[in-house]
Amino acid sequence: MRVTTGRASQSDSRMFTVVVESFGIGRQRRAERRLTVPFEQLQSLMQTIAANGGRIRVVSSDLTTAEAVAATPAPAADPAPQAAPTVPAPRAAVSHADVPVNLYKPKDPFLGTVTENYSLVGEGAIGRVNHITFDLAGGNPQLHYVEGQSIGIIPDGTDANGKPHKLRLYSIASTRHGDNLEDITVSLCVRQLQYEKDGETINGVCSTFLCDIEPGAKVKITGPVGKEMLLPPDEDATVIMLATGTGIAPMRAYLRRMFDPGERARNPEYQFRGLAWLFMGAPKTPNLLYDDDLKRYQAEFPDNFRYTTAISREQQNAKGGRMYIQDRVLEHADEIFALIENPKTHVYMCGLRGMEPGIDEAMTAAAAAKGLDWSELRPQLKKADRWHVETY
Ligand SMILES: Cc1cc2nc3c(=O)[nH]c(=O)nc-3n(C[C@H](O)[C@H](O)[C@H](O)COP(=O)(O)OP(=O)(O)OC[C@H]3O[C@@H](n4cnc5c(N)ncnc54)[C@H](O)[C@@H]3O)c2cc1C
Repeated sequence: MRVTTGRASQSDSRMFTVVVESFGIGRQRRAERRLTVPFEQLQSLMQTIAANGGRIRVVSSDLTTAEAVAATPAPAADPAPQAAPTVPAPRAAVSHADVPVNLYKPKDPFLGTVTENYSLVGEGAIGRVNHITFDLAGGNPQLHYVEGQSIGIIPDGTDANGKPHKLRLYSIASTRHGDNLEDITVSLCVRQLQYEKDGETINGVCSTFLCDIEPGAKVKITGPVGKEMLLPPDEDATVIMLATGTGIAPMRAYLRRMFDPGERARNPEYQFRGLAWLFMGAPKTPNLLYDDDLKRYQAEFPDNFRYTTAISREQQNAKGGRMYIQDRVLEHADEIFALIENPKTHVYMCGLRGMEPGIDEAMTAAAAAKGLDWSELRPQLKKADRWHVETY
């Protein structure tokens, strides 16, 4: 981004023109737009643009309020860069206040269209897990989100009392730009809930609805919601991720944002060069989700991405038992705690609620080995917004 100012003097009466790409709704998003605002609104405009994935090309200040009101839309101002402006550069990620929430509520959901629904698991896997993408075009407001948020899905049909089903939340597995980078899709990673009751197999209502859904179908979507799992804007951060099963969903979004070539081209302001370390738990090798993408990132960014798997039914821990993610955490306790000492380190945990006690136990033991008390350290990390947990 180029930041220019046409006048040397600073005055509250100045108007600023921001030339932006990929901002707005529908066709507007595809076109370059010019937005002119008074100086006092400039910061909030730039934050809104960043929050919505817009790309700022130029910020220029040429006109006073009166001049700007009188002026017809002018071609892009492109003077030579001058003295450092007081204009804040847009940040890669957004502050909590700028994160979109509840653009669509259960009473008036957005109707998304399924564009893709495919299996994420290989031959011999346990259960069904699908990647499902919805087209969000045509909403007013446009349904948009940032990495780490969730959306609600209201399945078709009615419950046992004849009432419409309640919404279920699903972590978003795509970046804000969507899998096709067109800014108008959202993807989920859904495991079909199945359990036995009185000798009968019970299928979860919403997860089965989603795993069975065909492209072209319309689905009621609410949200987005959630500010717990936002990615830090720092390109040099260390991001430790602990995921089991579909808990990979937000991590997939982070890792695409960090390492996918299309994403990197779209986000010149976020060129990740820190360390991302994913601990991924699965029962069997064919249950490792998005494994090919993750291995590719590992090959392409060996200094920036570590990928450690715990495959419970195939690998053994040091005690000869099944290898769970907490066993891997214990194995790497020294390194993990050395990283946590760095204030740039964030830890994310996502997956079934049952993973929490095991991780807590491992972190307690790992901390104790370094003379630290995890029960004191964890709340401190949480308070510093560096310990992020979303389990269900
Ligand atoms: C923030 C958040 C993010 C989430 N992200 C994801 C995600 O990315 N991917 C994903 O797949 N899911 C995710 N979930 C879970 C999701 O919201 C649903 O809970 C899940 O899909 C099951 O919904 P369902 O309608 O299929 O099941 P339902 O038909 O609602 O059945 C669930 C109910 O079945 C009963 N039940 C469940 N298991 C058993 C059992 N073993 N024995 C007896 N009874 C049982 C319980 O009463 C349970 O409440 C997330 C949840 C939250 C809160």
